[in-house]
Amino acid sequence: MLHVAVVGSGPSGVYAAQSLVQQDLVPRVRVDVLDRLPCPYGLVRYGVAPDHEKIKSLQNNLRTVLEHERVRFLGSVEIGPGALPPARLLDLYHAVVYCVGAAADRRLGVPGEDLPGSHSATEFVSWYSAHPDVLTDGFEQDGFVRGVESAVVIGVGNVAVDVARILVRGVAELLPTDMPDAALGVLAGSRVREVHMVGRRGPSQARFTTKELRELGALPDTEVVVDPAELALDPAYADPSGLPAASRRNIEVLRGWAERPPRGLPRRIRLRFFLRPVALTAGAAGRVAGARFERTLPDGRGGVSGSGQYEDIPAQLVLRSVGYRGVPLDGLPFDPERGTVPHAAGRVLRDGAPSPGEYVAGWIKRGPTGVIGTNRPCAKETVQSLLDDAPDLVRRGVPEDPLAGLRAAGVRPVEWPGWLAIERAEAELGRSLGRGVVKIPDWAGLRRAAQGQ
Ligand code: NAP
Repeated sequence: MLHVAVVGSGPSGVYAAQSLVQQDLVPRVRVDVLDRLPCPYGLVRYGVAPDHEKIKSLQNNLRTVLEHERVRFLGSVEIGPGALPPARLLDLYHAVVYCVGAAADRRLGVPGEDLPGSHSATEFVSWYSAHPDVLTDGFEQDGFVRGVESAVVIGVGNVAVDVARILVRGVAELLPTDMPDAALGVLAGSRVREVHMVGRRGPSQARFTTKELRELGALPDTEVVVDPAELALDPAYADPSGLPAASRRNIEVLRGWAERPPRGLPRRIRLRFFLRPVALTAGAAGRVAGARFERTLPDGRGGVSGSGQYEDIPAQLVLRSVGYRGVPLDGLPFDPERGTVPHAAGRVLRDGAPSPGEYVAGWIKRGPTGVIGTNRPCAKETVQSLLDDAPDLVRRGVPEDPLAGLRAAGVRPVEWPGWLAIERAEAELGRSLGRGVVKIPDWAGLRRAAQGQ
């Protein structure tokens, strides 16, 4: 039997576990999927927007893998300094596959970035997704309900689209989601009327996918506003035929909006392009009062240069949605430039040579790009490397049951029945509030629920 630990129970971790147990091989493979949280599914639970029920339902596919007879979910197991170091994990398993994602957000590096009222989009997403590491009252205390009429979202990727959409959604549309009750209450009281979503390059370089973009145009009570003159600064706007298909479709959606007469709806999402953030500015109370941008000009090769002309957009809330970034895991090599672990076909490289028994998959392997499905071939490649190495890996003696070793190291995992107890508690919480399933947003609540209390 080959004992493998997969660290991280998001899509890449679960796809790695699936690829491992799908093989009809000798030696047989047994997989423990470890997660720092007592809840599985990673960004499917804590990143996919609550109003994207279809993508969320992917949890059902991931669940069947975690319920496989040779797969075991072990939640509340932290790997790293002060917890279980990678070297100790390798004593307990023949191989470890790190699928820890990209947990931090990229910084903008402009003055005013940390003003009150300026947040990373990932922080906002974590808050409305009930991630227990986010202070549950963070946005509640932030004057979000009281003062925000205009918000700026910096970046034009799918996360930017998600947060812009959630900002303008009405309570009736959010009520059926599993959003925690406190977040729902705050968003229900929101007075946001304008969301400015701003890209530093042109529409043909935008990173959002067309399906997600189109959804903005179908929001009730919200108008999407684009300035045809600004779109036309992009040389590919007049003739998008040379663009990749996805960008061409985006341009066509934007063109449709540019040609549509205003409908006088109460909320607006303004899509802006060729504006590079240079500073966030403070108001009288020291809170963010706006964002200053420099107008950029296309260089004809997909890049831009500054024009020396500036534009201020007033905003009482700024969400910086400029991408995720991998964080180093103490005990594993790390490439700070790329924010990933150096690897060859998924084998972790230490000083340029493969480190026996250590592998990576998902965003910590290839960076924070692609959609959920991209993780499937990525995990498959890593698992293939692992299985090729398996004859050597099994020669090393490891304990019959790694769980005893984890317990001896002071770890008290939340096993599958504990997670099912959390699921039941969330269904019960929803019932008591007259809603569907409602997520528990805090560590204490999750721990109590896992113990069936
Ligand atoms: P992303 O796709 O990498 O987009 C980041 C955006 O930030 C880009 O527009 C980028 O512009 C901009 N940016 C980066 N640095 C900047 C700076 N210093 N100043 C101004 N703008 C800056 O990242 P993401 O939106 O966080 O998404 C991460 C991944 O998750 C993506 O693969 C995405 O498709 C996926 N995702 C998918 C869904 C879905 O399928 N529904 C939902 C959420 C996320 P440049 O291009 O100019 O660098």
